[in-house]
Amino acid sequence: MSEFHFIRQLNLSQPVRRDEVVLGIGDDAAMLDVPEGHHLVVSTDTFNDGVHFPEGTAACDMGYKSMAASLSDVAAMGAEPLAVNLSLSMPDSSEAWLAGFAQGFFELAGQYRVQLMGGDMTRGPLGISVTIFATVPAGRAMQRSEAQAGDLIYVSGTLGDAGAALLALQGELELAEPQRSALMCRLNRPSPRVETGTLIRDYASACIDISDGLTSDLGHILEQSGVAAMLYVDQIPLSEPLKSCFDAVGGWTIPLSCGDDYELCFTVPGTRQGELENLLAGRQPAVRCIGMTEAGEHLKLMMPDGTIKVAEPAGYDHFS
Ligand code: ADP
Ligand code: MG
Repeated sequence: MSEFHFIRQLNLSQPVRRDEVVLGIGDDAAMLDVPEGHHLVVSTDTFNDGVHFPEGTAACDMGYKSMAASLSDVAAMGAEPLAVNLSLSMPDSSEAWLAGFAQGFFELAGQYRVQLMGGDMTRGPLGISVTIFATVPAGRAMQRSEAQAGDLIYVSGTLGDAGAALLALQGELELAEPQRSALMCRLNRPSPRVETGTLIRDYASACIDISDGLTSDLGHILEQSGVAAMLYVDQIPLSEPLKSCFDAVGGWTIPLSCGDDYELCFTVPGTRQGELENLLAGRQPAVRCIGMTEAGEHLKLMMPDGTIKVAEPAGYDHFS
């Protein structure tokens, strides 16, 4: 199948057309209209087979997850997604692989009304690069550098599920059904927290999405804001499937340091806590306060037994 046929297939199967996309697939470049009073928010993520996807990951899960990770980045800014560019490198022209990929990719694109507006297609080792375009009202994006000492630290959803699934895939953990399927779904089909991001943007001082691990990603907020923090480890929210294998996965290490959960971690000034909790009450995902920022420069962990330790810089680093 030819490159142009592939591109036409992608264009035909996409479920979304948005007015903001003035010119989509087919010309030398695409054009996007940014509404008055908004900033354009842009982020790129690249996924390489074997590095970002465990061996044997289905094409549709690769499509779903690459879209989810991009949506998660703009969620962490408090932005509304509009469109994406997709750059694909494939070793051979497999129509079946592309159809599977497109199915997962467009499932989430349809859900969040994101239009595919361009991209690139080359032959090479399997690689997926997604650039997402989103908008946020001017001055209202959440930045990593804006936390203040004394802010409360929140996370959305539950942490550690994707990490446990990865351990199981690597043969280091036995999981029974239905827990195994539930955890695998969290690894392969993460839910980007787009609604949560736009809801919290007027209350949170700083925000990041947890792609590398809680201590590592929260560490970026602390470093860029010039503050320290205390995390109350027993407050970290865990899912029921993870609780059922908590000792087998090695306890708190997984929710503290494993990535791929794509939850949001954000800081909230104490004066805004009541409003934020009222706004989010009863919504999914729930958010939970797990700590507090303070003056200084370390991330400290209050362990469930009452001991305090300084978090080692952990989390995934491609070049370490
Ligand atoms: P050029 O050679 O000018 O870069 P291409 O042949 O690469 O043009 O692309 C033709 C059109 O198809 C462009 O509008 C481009 O954005 C779009 N396109 C190419 N690859 C993809 C892809 N993987 N997904 C979506 N659009 C694509
Ligand atoms: Mg090109």
